[in-house]
Order: sequence, then C-alpha cells, then structure tokens
Amino acid sequence: MTSATLRILKKRVYSANSSAIRNGQRKKVTIEQLVEQYEKQCGSAKYPLCVYCGREIRGKMLSLDHVVPFAAGGQNEISNIQLVCSRDNRYKRSMSSELYAKLLATLKAAGLLTDFFSTYQPRRGRR
Ligand SMILES: [Zn+2]
Repeated sequence: MTSATLRILKKRVYSANSSAIRNGQRKKVTIEQLVEQYEKQCGSAKYPLCVYCGREIRGKMLSLDHVVPFAAGGQNEISNIQLVCSRDNRYKRSMSSELYAKLLATLKAAGLLTDFFSTYQPRRGRR
C-alpha cells in the first residue's frame, strides 16, 4: 500500500467516525481495521474491487460503505463496512447494500445502467 492510499484511508476513517457521531453512534472504526479490510478486498490484486460494479477502486475513488445503513440500524463497525467506488456510494445513498445490488441488477437487465449513471460527475476538490 502506498502512503497516498494510507492517507486516503485515514481520511475515510475520520469521515465515517464523524458521520457515526452525527448519527448518535459511539462505535469507531480504526485505521488498522480499515487497512485489513483494504487488503482483504485486494486479494491478490493491486487495488480493491468495488463490490457493486467490480471496477478497481483507485485513489480518491475509494469510499466506505455501511452495508446496513445507519438509518436502518446499521452500526459503525468494520463488519458493517466495505470499500466501494465513490460513484456507487453516491448513488446508493441510504439504501441497504442488498437493495442497491438488486436495483443495479434490474437496471442492467433492462439495459438502463448507462442511463442511470449518466448524470454522475465526480465531486470537484474532494480530498
Ligand atoms: Zn462501484
């Protein structure tokens, strides 16, 4: 893992923990746990693969996804966190991981996946 990747992971941990506090949660994810998760999702590859679209997640595209969202009672703990690309994380919003995966499968079967993502623009200046 490069130092740039580690820096991004640290920012994402901070962001996830801050978001948890705003949602009335006390549990914290540690950078050690996240590094372990990153390596697990890399397997033998250089970059982790997004659990939704299967693309390599590089650099600032790296986002943390709560599998079960806070709104549905999900906890801020590593067993509830997976690495996804920022595009999928944005579109998923507060959907559960299961529901979002079903939505993508339905859109794909209907040939509408490209249309669905057509409005996506990466955030400018995201650190
Ligand atoms: Zn993705």
